[in-house]
Amino acid sequence: VSGLAPLLGHGEVRHSLARALERGDLPGSLLLHGPVGVGKQRLGLWLGQRLLCSAPGDPEPCGRCANCRFSLRIEHPDLHWFFPLARPKSVGSADKLSTALEDARAAELAARRAEPYRGPRTGENLGIFVAQMQTLRRIAIARPSLGRRKLILVGDAERLVPQESSPEAANALLKVLEEPPADTTLVLTVADPEGLLPTLRSRCLPVRLNPLPLEEVEAFLISEFQLEPPTAHAIAQLSQGCPGQALGFKPGPDGPGPLESQRQQAREWLEAAVRSDPLTRLAAAHRLAPSGARGTFADTLGFLGLWLRDLAAQAAGAEALVVNTDAKPLLAELAAIVPGSARGAAAAGRLVEEALAMGRNNVNPQLTLAWLLEGLRQALHEA
Ligand SMILES: [Zn+2]
Repeated sequence: VSGLAPLLGHGEVRHSLARALERGDLPGSLLLHGPVGVGKQRLGLWLGQRLLCSAPGDPEPCGRCANCRFSLRIEHPDLHWFFPLARPKSVGSADKLSTALEDARAAELAARRAEPYRGPRTGENLGIFVAQMQTLRRIAIARPSLGRRKLILVGDAERLVPQESSPEAANALLKVLEEPPADTTLVLTVADPEGLLPTLRSRCLPVRLNPLPLEEVEAFLISEFQLEPPTAHAIAQLSQGCPGQALGFKPGPDGPGPLESQRQQAREWLEAAVRSDPLTRLAAAHRLAPSGARGTFADTLGFLGLWLRDLAAQAAGAEALVVNTDAKPLLAELAAIVPGSARGAAAAGRLVEEALAMGRNNVNPQLTLAWLLEGLRQALHEA
């Protein structure tokens, strides 16, 4: 594959969007929301291809016309894809910043084209900057290049930075939402609609994308990457029905996928909290790199939350709810050490939330983790 990876699932949403297009009443602005990796941006690009296709079927675009070929190579001049980028090194004037961000976007698009299954980027502080939204506004106002319409996709729109303290990026986008050009469809994607400013949210039609059946993710992993069925099964469980997450768990040429590394790190933290040995907890906190990338720390805390839920499920005898299915013997062993962990689950979850908030407030990750593991020990052992 080069260009776009295939879109999996979301058959009903595809049908209703295609019907709205045929009737001519597709809203000017859509908000696709649903869990990370479920395919929100890929569906946005599908809608762009469908909208630009010269000979669409029901509901799929033809896949063969010149418009479709451009769209599938992420090269269609009327299909614009914005997403968070790393802040460029200081570049001076606003014009230069805008150019630097457009160069960075072009480079990222080229990388996605070359490697459609690259999986999610992790451990980076990425944002959508005001200069990008000004570029978006210029594109929205301009006429389409090839046809009569254009589609602009803004992925991970909750990364409009920082919405509250510096509202310019959101304001630039708001202007487009307030006066949408008739030839433009704007699609925003967010994991959680609450993460978007209400002024933006209220101007879009929300469309919820649900996780895919696990069997569908499993079949995709086997057919596309020739994974052994047990491996594909375990990864599908971990993905919780989100193909993008499955890509992050899939082993790569240099070892485990990035999400798999985070999951194993979080498992070590869980063990450190449960096995009542203060030295183990201290060692776990110290193994964190001192300046540890904050994105990764937050993501790994997310996995710790998942392990804690699994431990609670195991302790409550609800083994069917366990997501880390490859670790059932370990979970059984840990549940025997802290049999009250189902009762302590709510308190443990709150501690993880607090640790996430500390991370956002730039508290040192090592200190945060040492505090968290001690708190979890108490919550689990004393429940
Ligand atoms: Zn076509």
